[in-house]
Amino acid sequence: MTDRQPFPDAAALRARHREVLPAWLATYYRDPIELTHGEGRHVYDSAGNRYLDFFGGILTTMTAHALPEVAKAVAEQAGRILHTSTLYLSTPMVELAEQIAGLSGIPDAKVFFTTSGTEANELALMLATTYRRSNQVLALRNSYHGRSFATIGVTGNSAWSPTALSPLQTLYVHGGVRAGGPFARLTDEQFTAACVADLEDLLGQAEGTVAALIAEPIQGVGGFTSGPDGLLAAFKEVLDRHGVLWISDEVQTGWGRTGDHFWGWQAHGQAGPPDVLTFAKGIANGMSMGGVVARPEVMDCLSANSISTFGGSPITCVAALANLRHLLEHDLQGNAKRVGAVLREELAAGVGPTVELRGRGLMLGLGLRDAQTATDTLEHARALGLLIGKGGRRGDALRIAPPLSLTATEAREGAGLLVEALRRAGA
Ligand code: PLP
Repeated sequence: MTDRQPFPDAAALRARHREVLPAWLATYYRDPIELTHGEGRHVYDSAGNRYLDFFGGILTTMTAHALPEVAKAVAEQAGRILHTSTLYLSTPMVELAEQIAGLSGIPDAKVFFTTSGTEANELALMLATTYRRSNQVLALRNSYHGRSFATIGVTGNSAWSPTALSPLQTLYVHGGVRAGGPFARLTDEQFTAACVADLEDLLGQAEGTVAALIAEPIQGVGGFTSGPDGLLAAFKEVLDRHGVLWISDEVQTGWGRTGDHFWGWQAHGQAGPPDVLTFAKGIANGMSMGGVVARPEVMDCLSANSISTFGGSPITCVAALANLRHLLEHDLQGNAKRVGAVLREELAAGVGPTVELRGRGLMLGLGLRDAQTATDTLEHARALGLLIGKGGRRGDALRIAPPLSLTATEAREGAGLLVEALRRAGA
């Protein structure tokens, strides 16, 4: 294991970054790196160091870096036409919408494309509040749904809430963090019952109509935490009784990443699909695409016009179609399940008893003692040639989310590097 070379011009680039970009735009690492190219599950920095990529640019390189099918589709489309807008018909947009509607599990679903997860959740909240004629919404504690006013208004994580201003009136429910909070010591069954009782109590106290519950099946920024399987199904029974819609934020959990399921909501599928589902990140392998899938009466409830100039552009849609085809034809969900199990096993055998192993498939998290240990581990991992992510309300979690084509050999290699990084950080 050789430590990485420093990037010679990094200090100058970092100074320019600081000068012209916002102070709150944080970069990883004491000496931030610039990634210049990638291949498969590996990326290279501008000093020529090679890293095994266990974070995929925040779960966004879904299949592989420089996937030839995506590169070819983008290049060919770029040579024809880059942009047309939603004012004109588009075969790639309609084809992609048909495929995603079919995969969503929502009957007769309709799809709207955006350019980010934030914008997707923004629309989901607008649809739900318009459909239900109420601005009251429920969200999980420790949640993250984006950076805009409405989405920050449903973010239960103070580290990611720069403003308290919000168009929504939000009530936060328990259930997102199994190993923390007042119900942590309960069994799974008791935990679910306590969270359902909390939800019932909250709905009983809410004045007037509640529009929706928005929830991540596994909380991403929150540190890959979740409630027990079936919790959201138990919630749905209560929500259905009150006519409250369920929005499943699948920005991190979609497309088979969790291995057991194509969507995160399917771990809670007993009560049927959500009313609204949002996606982004991985679908176009790094091209800027998000979207909303909804029951037709919910999607069509807006009475005024609405567009996204860039949403569903031909270039992003052809990338997404090629990426999705590759994912399905190569059963990368099955790979996430198989290789995720290898990774989990290696980590379980290598990490100490104070480390909490979370998540499923190729969405695995490590809950550490404190934020400093997480920062130190991140730093040591980079030095060893492994990129991982951080998370958690207190910054005390590590996030592992490699491209879904990860091989078992790479999983073992990465786990070995991570265990060594944890050891060096004294975790
Ligand atoms: N929802 C979840 C669960 C996310 O993790 C994120 C981003 O990390 C978002 C929404 C916002 O997506 P974007 O950064 O594309 O706006």
